[in-house]
Amino acid sequence: MLKKLIAGNWKMNLDYQGVDALMDDLVEQLSPETLERADIAICPPALYLSRALERAQQAEISLGAQDCADQDNGAYTGQVSAAMLADAGCSYVIVGHSERREYNGESNAAVKAKAQKAIAHVLTPIICVGESDAQRAAGQAEAVVGQQLKESLPDNAEQGSDIVIAYEPVWAIGTGNVASEDDVQAMHAFIYKQLSERFDDPENVRILYGGSMKPENAAGLLALPHVDGGLIGGASLKAESFLSIASCA
Ligand code: PEP
Repeated sequence: MLKKLIAGNWKMNLDYQGVDALMDDLVEQLSPETLERADIAICPPALYLSRALERAQQAEISLGAQDCADQDNGAYTGQVSAAMLADAGCSYVIVGHSERREYNGESNAAVKAKAQKAIAHVLTPIICVGESDAQRAAGQAEAVVGQQLKESLPDNAEQGSDIVIAYEPVWAIGTGNVASEDDVQAMHAFIYKQLSERFDDPENVRILYGGSMKPENAAGLLALPHVDGGLIGGASLKAESFLSIASCA
């Protein structure tokens, strides 16, 4: 069985003081029992990666970024490359989060290019997919997620363990409306089936659920087949709630 991955997406939150306080709490509260059951990662804003690095290493927490460029270097004002993130101590990078797809117009092709750059620089991309509420209501959830997977999976992923998929229904992100266990189970089984067509070892691809995961619903979600961890937004900004979710792994 895969060790679960519990990853926190801090989004554009906190300041130096807040990062220091949260990292102090994580170092103090993360127990060896939780670390035995789950790999823990945090994805701070890019500017705060260095600020979090020392304490993350102390607590055996991996660092991830929230995005990377789809180019190696050059005249791309404002962008951060996968190589720079690797230099900054990252092991993971989130690509294709629905907020970037929506606010930055990121296409599946862009997400794929970013994931390929991540792999080329020995980062594990956490590739986000998920349908909107209108798409689910129209019965298109699997078609949408299937298309996203088909068009966003990197060509240079040689084995399943090179990537992580995060299923994040858009309507569940930051809304408090968690997907039902039945819906999560069905979609994760569907994603696993799609991955089986691409990888010889699909069982090595971790498929995370994300969308209003909280201490109250984490145990049920993390116990479902093919749910190999969680991508946590709001609840990752407090050590108590983030680690309480991780302890359910
Ligand atoms: C996310 O943005 O990846 C996320 C899952 O957010 P939340 O947990 O706040 O729904």
